[in-house]
Amino acid sequence: MMAGKYLAGIDLGGTKIYAGIADLEGKLMATLKIPTEAENGPQAVVSRMVESLRLAAEKAGVKMSEIAGLGVGTPGPLNSRAGIVYTTPNLPGWVEVPLADWLAVATGLPVFVENDANLAALGEKYFGTGQGVDNFVFITVSTGIGGGIILGGQIWRGVTDMAGEIGHMVIDTNGPRCNCGRQGCLEVLASGPAIVRRAVAGLKEYPDSAILRLASGQAQGVTTHHIFQAAREGDPLAQVVVHETAFYLGTGITNVVHVLNPALVIIGGGVGKVGEQLLRPVREVVWEQTFARSRERLEIRQARLGDDAGVLGAILLARGELELRPSCP
Ligand SMILES: [Zn+2]
Repeated sequence: MMAGKYLAGIDLGGTKIYAGIADLEGKLMATLKIPTEAENGPQAVVSRMVESLRLAAEKAGVKMSEIAGLGVGTPGPLNSRAGIVYTTPNLPGWVEVPLADWLAVATGLPVFVENDANLAALGEKYFGTGQGVDNFVFITVSTGIGGGIILGGQIWRGVTDMAGEIGHMVIDTNGPRCNCGRQGCLEVLASGPAIVRRAVAGLKEYPDSAILRLASGQAQGVTTHHIFQAAREGDPLAQVVVHETAFYLGTGITNVVHVLNPALVIIGGGVGKVGEQLLRPVREVVWEQTFARSRERLEIRQARLGDDAGVLGAILLARGELELRPSCP
């Protein structure tokens, strides 16, 4: 059953590797972030992951031999059962990488691989906003827009691990071109870079916008933080951009609600950290657009775990797969 007293999790991102060590209850004992150095290719990145694990274990005062298993979250597409990562735009050179096998050989641990947004959803289910909720959708709004779907208390992966691609739901068929090749996806309208792009485009019409002042007069330095700050100060352009963002997200959530009729939608990611300033107008849009019975028991709430969600989800994945506790709390 179990061959160790601790669990390990790694959240692999395009810029950072986030590793954590927890006890069997999932209580984090140490976490650590190191740069991915993705440009060096998959083998180098896997070495970095092993190094991050070693450093996190050292920080936690845990021997590698005391770790029962390792869960890993990666951007998709992937095959979660085989632990293979196909190709992913943020990790150059990754083509059908047998990540679980490579990590198992390097660490001697049982390794389980899952989509990162799915793991963030799992983390929120056991330790965050999703506690006690069996049917919910987690949406991460950040550099991109990802999603994790929990149905009946379990991750809904779809038949080829491709469920939850909420960022590529088309919101405006005449909208701007998305990285995926189609037009008007939620991601190309409401992700962090999309919000910035719309604000910067608006500066032509609103050259005196507070957004530009907050960015020290540099249009290329504008961040979503400046935009939300300017909106709070009453800046007209920023308010329009935030309002539009809420409309796009609210429309996407409405589509999800009409398909799945969940009890809860959790908004996370870097942009989600702004909280009620975004959630309030998003709720208004969803309440306007959905059927009354679809929203009767619906809540839209902010994620609680921040950057820890993915690594906690990875630890929970390892725990579940190892059947340390066949029925999770
Ligand atoms: Zn797309």
